[in-house]
Amino acid sequence: MSSRQDKEKAVNVQVLLRCRPVNDDELRSNAPQVVTCNDYQREVAVTQTIAGKQIDRVFTFDKVFGPTARQKDLYDQAIIPIVNEVLEGFNCTIFAYGQTGTGKTYTMEGECRRAKSGPKGQLPADAGVIPRAVKQIFDTLERQNTEYSVKVTFLELYNEEITDLLAPEEISKVALEERQKKTLPLMEDGKGGVLVRGLEEEIVTNASEIFSLLERGSAKRRTAETLLNKQSSRSHSLFSITMHIKEATPEGEELIKCGKLNLVDLAGSENICRSGAREGRAREAGEINKSLLTLGRVITALVEHLGHVPYRDSKLTRLLRDSLGGRTKTCIIATVSPSVHCIEETLSTLDYAHRAK
Ligand code: ADP
Ligand code: MG
Repeated sequence: MSSRQDKEKAVNVQVLLRCRPVNDDELRSNAPQVVTCNDYQREVAVTQTIAGKQIDRVFTFDKVFGPTARQKDLYDQAIIPIVNEVLEGFNCTIFAYGQTGTGKTYTMEGECRRAKSGPKGQLPADAGVIPRAVKQIFDTLERQNTEYSVKVTFLELYNEEITDLLAPEEISKVALEERQKKTLPLMEDGKGGVLVRGLEEEIVTNASEIFSLLERGSAKRRTAETLLNKQSSRSHSLFSITMHIKEATPEGEELIKCGKLNLVDLAGSENICRSGAREGRAREAGEINKSLLTLGRVITALVEHLGHVPYRDSKLTRLLRDSLGGRTKTCIIATVSPSVHCIEETLSTLDYAHRAK
């Protein structure tokens, strides 16, 4: 591959690896740690014991964040430039990919529920990518002193069906079941993009309004999980922020820049290869495979510059079509546990993420 293509690849799809700290259970059970991160070398080693021999498998990523990396480190080193692109009028997508329990939601949301209560607009140290991105966007827009508008949508994709996490409605079992029946249809918008009919678009004027929306949507997601017996690990959530920014050209003309940032908390990657799914779960597992597998294929097609990109094969990739490929930036944050208990899933996450590079 030529160095120019290499450069394009590096610019458009970035793959980061984050390994969370050992948790209390792992500590109590004295589970050996098999993942070693070298943030500086951007390398991760997984130590496998095969026939009594220890063998290291080493993977390299664009950036590696070991267990001691803070939310701020990840954001400052990897996400700030992406949000700057969005503010310049481009569409970008950030995914969290990994086994359930490895820190996808922690990385994307963190403690954003408390974000609005910090003193002087400061975010708590635990705040994840979403609250930090929201803050960066509003800080920049307010500083630029131009006219702008910002809209937010928040949806869940479960079983290839879309539900609106922002729709104003009562959250009860009956209300949720009703809504489940009328999941929102995805339609072509005639401009190469898609549109979710009936999806609530909230106009927001400051960061703390977005924090309340995020809180409302997340609460609804959790309630629906409990009331409808959904398995949270099986759903994808998509939080999108769209902005229109007015700009005057040197010739005195007015220009509207439009940028969109998609923040995706993917279903647990363990759902991808559960071929032994039991009867009632078969469709669900298959449908989850579909979005995760198609996403993998779409990204492979993009990084390898294949002619055909199979966007149409899943809802998730249709939804993100205008934000993947072309003049967009994509960032995949792959999350893993350090423990030996998770070694199989860890290796498959590393393989999946590595293929996207
Ligand atoms: P997932 O969304 O992938 O299922 P979670 O984000 O819910 O996983 O994380 C599982 C648990 O681990 C949570 O209690 C979370 O706070 C904790 N955790 C995950 N990543 C980190 C991290 N990097 N530092 C500290 N705690 C973490
Ligand atoms: Mg989660």
